[in-house]
Amino acid sequence: MTTLWYKNAILYGLDIDKFQDSNGDGWGDFPGALGRLDYLADLGVTCLWLLPFYPSPHRDNGYDVVDYCAVDPRYGTLKDFQTFLAGARERGIRILIDMVANHTSDQHPWFQEARRDKTSKYHDYYIWAQEPPEKSAHQPIFPGAENSVWHYDEVAGAYYFHIFYHFQPSLNHANPDVRAEFQRILKFWLDLGVDGFRIDAAPHMIEPKDSPETIVPHPHDILREMSAFVRGQSPDAALLAEADGEPDELPAFFGDGREMHLLFNFYLDNYLFLAFARRNANTLGRVLTQFPNIPREGQWANFLRNLDELDLERLTEDERQVVYAAFAPDEDMRIYNRGIRRRTAPMFGGNRRQMEMAYSLLFSLPGAPLVVYGDEIGMGDDLSQPERNSVRTPMQWADELNGGFSTAPVSKLVRPVIDTGEFGYERVNVTDQQRDPDSFLNWMKRLIEIRKQNPQLGTELCHVFDVGAPEVLAHQVQLDGHNLIALHNLSDKPLTVTLDVNDTLTEALANQAYPALNHSREFSLPGFGYRWFRTVARR
Ligand code: MG
Repeated sequence: MTTLWYKNAILYGLDIDKFQDSNGDGWGDFPGALGRLDYLADLGVTCLWLLPFYPSPHRDNGYDVVDYCAVDPRYGTLKDFQTFLAGARERGIRILIDMVANHTSDQHPWFQEARRDKTSKYHDYYIWAQEPPEKSAHQPIFPGAENSVWHYDEVAGAYYFHIFYHFQPSLNHANPDVRAEFQRILKFWLDLGVDGFRIDAAPHMIEPKDSPETIVPHPHDILREMSAFVRGQSPDAALLAEADGEPDELPAFFGDGREMHLLFNFYLDNYLFLAFARRNANTLGRVLTQFPNIPREGQWANFLRNLDELDLERLTEDERQVVYAAFAPDEDMRIYNRGIRRRTAPMFGGNRRQMEMAYSLLFSLPGAPLVVYGDEIGMGDDLSQPERNSVRTPMQWADELNGGFSTAPVSKLVRPVIDTGEFGYERVNVTDQQRDPDSFLNWMKRLIEIRKQNPQLGTELCHVFDVGAPEVLAHQVQLDGHNLIALHNLSDKPLTVTLDVNDTLTEALANQAYPALNHSREFSLPGFGYRWFRTVARR
């Protein structure tokens, strides 16, 4: 029986190769990350999502895997991973690891065997065609980078299907042998003690792919079978799915509590940024009240940014243009005709008040919040890097060589450190912010602490108040009589709103000191101001 620990998890997305290099080879590694566990424990995060660390040609940030049961030597050894896991456990931090089950690298031994020998069982792990269909039902995930979902392989003398890059052939999960392989892989990591998996590209894993042998009667059975297997092995383990879709498609991924435990909340993210761009909470308020119900075992993983593009696919074209105009005015800041490849701090122009308001709002919404490494210090992006690598630069620890990330020569770094401008490591780094009680890092620590003191935010019941000012989102989250009411001013103008509640309010978090409430129901908020209240029902 699961303890539902993930419902109140504070998630932290961590890319090992960009976090801390311990041996001066320019690649972050597990021993380096081990040395930073006290930092993460002090920050207060409770669960790390580790991006892929498997052996890989690294043509897609490690999402092109060649061996699912090993650690890329540049990241350390399997023993180093185990030491890191034990260190995290000692500090009460859980570990979810990325499971890239939708596709392998074209260098994976399965694919190499598959292309050489049509009679091999590995051939049927993938999807082949002598002639690709004239009109595919699928579009490449990365338009501009890929033109088709079918790629000709000269060794096989046939085309194979790939929804992601052409060097990432899709696996056929309708084939029971593929599913058995992944059960073996999941068991390998569960036996080592991981707390669960982030399931990459979950909807693509189960969708039919231009070919009859990829069709199963009930596609969600593929994920349910995986989930049942994981629960059987480790009842407390959690599965976090990357599932972007329309709201009516999402509850199926929770499968009445028998499928995924957590879903990344792409839908909410779209409307958060629309609200930030318009400085108007109306649409967001409506979205929050119309959110689909999810089972007791399920939870949303809420975020402002993850380590991909900020995907704005759920918005209409007009709405997307509003977000672009506010946060990605240059064409180069946009990507794949649907998103933005910037980090939060530069999108907000480094405006501390707006950044606080945005994270405060994120943390006050029902769900488990995600912070991506570096966002806690307001790190920037590097638009000179291709595609999504703009948001995947090394962690900035100190005003030292390579930002304290590595002692390697600059030319050897896994990615260049941001070393110039407003977001360069001289100006934005952990060490300076640790010294400054008013830093964004120390503010984020406090936000995490307050979030932990309000476990009712782990429920999904949310009520939105009409306060007569469309710039202000006023919402209440409650569980078992414990209520939290939050006010967020999305605009830069000071406002006063009236809130119709009878309960006694106690201030829990605010952007500044406010006068005592004295039962007044009028609340003033400066531009980008925010206030959280705990409520006690009057008898
Ligand atoms: Mg290293």
